[in-house]
Formats: sequence, structure tokens, C-alpha cells
Amino acid sequence: MDISNSKSLFANAQNFIPGGVNSPVRAFKAVGGDPLFIKKADGAYLYDEDDNRYIELINSWGPMILGHNHPVIKEAVIKAMESGTSFGAPTAKEIEIAALITKMVPSVEKVRMVNSGTEATMSAVRLARGFTGRDKFIKFEGNYHGHGDSFLIAAGSGAITMGAPNSPGVTIGTAKDTLLALYNDLESVEQLIEANKAEVAAIILEPVPGNMGLVLPEEGFLQGLRKLCDEEGIVLIFDEVMTGFRLAKGGAQEVFGVTPDLTTMGKIIGGGMPVGAYGGKKEIMDFVSPVGPVYQAGTLSGNPIAMAAGLAMLQYLDQEPGVYNQLESIGNKLVGGVKQSLSKLGLNYSMNHLGSMYSLFFSEEKIIDFETAKTSDTALFGKYFQAMLKRGVYLPPSQFESLFLSTSLKEEHIEYIIQANEESLKEIL
Ligand SMILES: *Cc1c(COP(=O)(O)O)cnc(C)c1O
Repeated sequence: MDISNSKSLFANAQNFIPGGVNSPVRAFKAVGGDPLFIKKADGAYLYDEDDNRYIELINSWGPMILGHNHPVIKEAVIKAMESGTSFGAPTAKEIEIAALITKMVPSVEKVRMVNSGTEATMSAVRLARGFTGRDKFIKFEGNYHGHGDSFLIAAGSGAITMGAPNSPGVTIGTAKDTLLALYNDLESVEQLIEANKAEVAAIILEPVPGNMGLVLPEEGFLQGLRKLCDEEGIVLIFDEVMTGFRLAKGGAQEVFGVTPDLTTMGKIIGGGMPVGAYGGKKEIMDFVSPVGPVYQAGTLSGNPIAMAAGLAMLQYLDQEPGVYNQLESIGNKLVGGVKQSLSKLGLNYSMNHLGSMYSLFFSEEKIIDFETAKTSDTALFGKYFQAMLKRGVYLPPSQFESLFLSTSLKEEHIEYIIQANEESLKEIL
């Protein structure tokens, strides 16, 4: 495979952009080799600057759930472009998309649009703090909520220690208000709440984590958090930036039947444009400025082009019958095929799967949290990634990311991926 154009672009990019990329994981550090520079995308395919073609299993890290360049979204954007790119004033489309979000995600009674998932989670935690008058919040090891200072905290020594910043530039002062619990471990949460009585404003989590590879909530875990929050006056925030509009119209909260107080959204919500949102109970959302005291703003928030793309995407997902069944069936076929290959090759690697998300872990342990996810052989994953790429299948370049499927995957793509997967496993073992 010739990737010489990508190689020289990457070399040049490093002169002007830190590490040559505008988001770190794109640099392929976790899997080795040079990142591919993408020229265009269409349907199930990405094309790099050397005109190699790849079947997409990242889909821009989730947003492209209908595949690339979907005509419905493309037309909506082109149409909106004709009326100007930004007004910095309210538009009718913003009401339309907000109303649709509240219909698709019933726990969201009011919603504020922002420009990224990071902004959504930062704002939601600020709001929860303002609403409760408390400073601390609980997050879970291995859950990612964007790059806001207070989220960049790794474990000290287990669940009940204070957080220590895991990036220079995050102050100890910030870190001390972030409490770390263990995913799927209610007891670790109870201990934190007990040790910080009446000081915890919020619990934020990925209801189905996709940022340590895909991990599923165990029976009763989400319900248990809901109960703890009710008892202690804590705001429960589901970070559905990844799972929202993907696992179901109403996201993970619909699938598991647990209702958060606030929800953060991103990725799919912008149809490929930079959009995030946070929303929830009216009484909490009405704490946001200008109606409430908690300040939050954005020059380009609710941008008309971004709203046109997002609205077209959400309308399609809301109205097109069978989209989620289709995604489910694609996921089942693909995961079924991969599992068959594993057993044929006598491999006991762990797989987690839900709907159109799955992860193959190079570990024989059941993956239920960050601790178990870390048992994966990341060097082997790197080889697997390269073996798949060589065969024209583009995976997320990290063991600790979920795959994202799109409706553009047809029978022939699925068969090809299963075949490539089996050959790749044989090659690396
Ligand atoms: C991607 C992601 C974010 C951050 O969103 P950005 O748009 O990259 O800022 C936050 N939370 C979760 C769960 C995510 O997957």
C-alpha cells in the first residue's frame, strides 16, 4: 500500500501544527505508523491522499451514523449556506432542533446548544454546581468527558482518594473537586458520597462507556446511581455524547430505562458539524443564563449551518422507520462473524457489543471497567490495527475506543470485514 502522500503531508504538518494533528489520537501514536491524510469520504468509504480506499469503522468517531456524504444532510447544508453562514442572533431552526431533541430524549425538557461535547460536559457540571450550591463531583475511571480541566483526572490509589491531575496545566485546586469512582462499582460511589457528605453536586458518567473500549453497565448499576442521587440531592448527568441518537433515538437512557437529570450530547447531533448540547429538567435548565444565574455562552452556538446539518440528521433518525433495527442487524452480523472467527482460531478474546458499537479486546478477561480494560495487549492491538488497515479496513487507532458502525455498511462490506478480520488475526498471532 502506497501512502507516500500521507507521509509527506504528515512530515509537513508537524512544522505548523503540534504533532501534525488537531486532535491527539489522530496521530496513530497508540498503533504506530503514520496517520493517513483523508481527501474525501463517501458512504461506507474513506479515501486517503494516495487514493487508497478504506471501509469505515470509526465514522468520524461516531457522528457519521448514516455513512459519509449522506444526501439528506448534504442538501440541508447547501440550502442553509445560501442564506449566510452565521448571524449571532436567534433563528427558527434552533427551536425546531430543540423541540425535536426533547421529543427524542424525553428526559430533556429544555436544551442549550454548544459547539462540542467538551463544552457540553463542562457546562453541565457548572450548572449542577450552581444548582446545588456544591463544589465536588464524581466521575468514573476510564470515562472520558472531553478535555475540560476538571475531567482530566486519573486515579490516585483507588476510588476514595482525591483526584490528581493527569495533564500538566490542570491545577491541584481543580483536581481536588473531582472525585473518582470505579465503573460498575456502586460501593465505590457510596464511599465517596459518605466521605463528602452534602458536598457532591453531580455524578457524571458515560452510561455505556466507549472511551475505554466498549463497556456495558452491569445489571442494577445505573439504577443504583439514580437511587443514590435521589437520596442525596445529587444531579445525575449522563454523558451521551457518544451514545446519544446511536444506541436508540433516546440514547442509552432509553435502552436501560434510567432517567438522568441532565444529559450531554454531541457527535451525531451535528450531523458531522461541530455541535454539542446539554439539557434536562426544566427546573435545572432554567438556572442557565439569561434566565438563571449560571453563565454560559457561545458566539457560534446554534450556528445556522451546523443546525441545518444536525436537524437533517435527527429528523432522519426520528422519521426513517427501521434505522435502529438496521444498525442492530449490521452489528449482530459483524460481531457474529468476528466471534465465529475467534472460536475457529481457538482464541478467547473478549468482545463487548451493543447495537452499532463493539470492541474486540486483546484480553481473555471479561471487560467491565478500566482495570480490566487495561489487561488488553495493546502491542498486539497495534499489529491488528495495521493488518486491518493494510486490507482496507479503517479501525479506531486505539484499543480503548469503540467501533462505530453506520447504515452504509452493506452485506458485501460486512463479509469483507469479517474475512479481513480473520486473515489479520492469523497474520499477527
Ligand atoms: C467525544 C466525547 C466527548 C467530547 O466531545 P468533543 O466534541 O470531542 O469535545 C465527551 N464525552 C464523551 C462520552 C465523548 O465520547
